[in-house]
Amino acid sequence: MSTTGTPVVPGVGAGPVVRPGARTEAPADEAFVDRDTTVAAFAAAAATVAERLTARASHASGAAAEVLQATSAMATDRGLATFVAKHADGAGPATATTLAVTDLAAMFTAAGGLMAERVTDLHDVRDRVVAEVLGVPEPGVPEPEVPSVLFADDLAPADTAGLDPARIVAIAIRLGGTTSHTAIIARQLGIPCVVGVSDLPLDLPADGTARALVDGATGEVVLDPDPADVEARRAADDERRGAVAAWGGPGATSDGHAVQVLANVQDGAGARRAAAQPIEGFGLYRTELSFLDRGTEPTVDEQAAIYREVFAAVGAGQKVVVRTLDAGSDKPLQFADMGDEPNPALGVRGLRIAESRPELLDHQLDAVAAAAADSEADVWVMAPMVSVTPEAAALAERIHARGLQAGVMIETPSAALLADRILEHVDFVSIGTNDLSQYTFAADRMSAALGHLTDPWQPALLILIEQVAAAGRRAGKPVGVCGEAAADPVLACVLVGLGVTSLSCAATAVRAVGAQIGAVTLEQCRAAAHAALLTDTPEDARTAARAALA
Ligand code: PEP
Ligand code: MG
Repeated sequence: MSTTGTPVVPGVGAGPVVRPGARTEAPADEAFVDRDTTVAAFAAAAATVAERLTARASHASGAAAEVLQATSAMATDRGLATFVAKHADGAGPATATTLAVTDLAAMFTAAGGLMAERVTDLHDVRDRVVAEVLGVPEPGVPEPEVPSVLFADDLAPADTAGLDPARIVAIAIRLGGTTSHTAIIARQLGIPCVVGVSDLPLDLPADGTARALVDGATGEVVLDPDPADVEARRAADDERRGAVAAWGGPGATSDGHAVQVLANVQDGAGARRAAAQPIEGFGLYRTELSFLDRGTEPTVDEQAAIYREVFAAVGAGQKVVVRTLDAGSDKPLQFADMGDEPNPALGVRGLRIAESRPELLDHQLDAVAAAAADSEADVWVMAPMVSVTPEAAALAERIHARGLQAGVMIETPSAALLADRILEHVDFVSIGTNDLSQYTFAADRMSAALGHLTDPWQPALLILIEQVAAAGRRAGKPVGVCGEAAADPVLACVLVGLGVTSLSCAATAVRAVGAQIGAVTLEQCRAAAHAALLTDTPEDARTAARAALA
């Protein structure tokens, strides 16, 4: 039997199937001694859980370490303890924990954005604390003796972060999209991963007799695979890995069509790490991520010092595309807070904030110009969440007044439709496929349940990208892609075929993208784009593009 999902981390893994341990619920007849006993038992269990997660964080790195540390901090968070205390009259510790988490999860969900995303962590903390209180094994992923394939409905971020790639050689998940936590961490750990496998069999025997193969490049999940098929796929994957490791840039198709391969960065340290990869610059510098914990606006000098560090990481003449503050919605900035909005993703975010707070944009542009003047980098500036031509025109005027290249992100369908007119004012555009998907499909980019709609292979998204690229060609101006779409090597070829001139993605993905583009001709990219545009589903688009690139 074979089924498919959304491939998110390429590679081939095969072995016995394992499943995460079931969670234990608070027993209906849990003993209650008194309020203080309940509070003390919760505190002890939460401290143990936090300690274990911190210990695991110390053996991890990058996103995995951050997730483990954040989950650990949540276990001992004062807010959680306060809610448990509220429910401690008449309830044992497991029951009080469960009730407290139900209340908190409702509050987080109502807040939306990043808070809502943390509900999964909250449930994970609940399950671990309840298990600790009851003295049963912590729920989570087993540590099998032999290399195994993990099948699950969904994974708690802390479970994914704690995986050992030597024991769990592939992951198949029923839920989740390309930007889910599971996908992001699996990518960092290099574990082949397929998400959104809607008919993944989760009732297989847990005694190691069920075997499976997961192909993270094609999205296939094969039960009881033929050993010869496993070997053939492994050999092809080894060859691909070799090409990825050997790729040294600059970006070009095998017949010499240049495509800039750039990295997305967010601070000086990340920029220096990214610069160690064979990139030609930074295609998206997410400036707002340096200020998430700031209550007040950083001064122009403070900002300039931060930007200087990032500019210093690239070689002389290399491009750095600075994005002005993308505050609001999933990236709330206290000093640019626009108050409560019923739909923050559709509210006053990104460039829209400059309407009522023009000084925020001016100060930032002054800081970028000051830092650029002291640097040898080729500094370009663009703004997020542009919808109409006058916004682009006014922005370009302010950026040009400071002697810098001006651009906008194409993240709303209106901006994509207006690309010709917008390009009359700006020097370049960069397509933010994460938000462009969200707004095109009216589907929250954070929603795992809607992951199939925000899949960057959706043909409607590809049609919009094609239109923007065509506008860029007519204007003779660059059109980049800086959303997650650019991190998928096969999709990157399609983007090149659609006419995109630069690709910017996580630094960890650049070699795979560069190597894949280097393995095909421009004509193949165009054929792949053409084939993908004619399909009706992301699955068919992937299959059609792969066939054209083979
Ligand atoms: C995007 O929306 O695709 C993008 C690159 O911006 P961000 O993910 O930071 O919103
Ligand atoms: Mg965006």
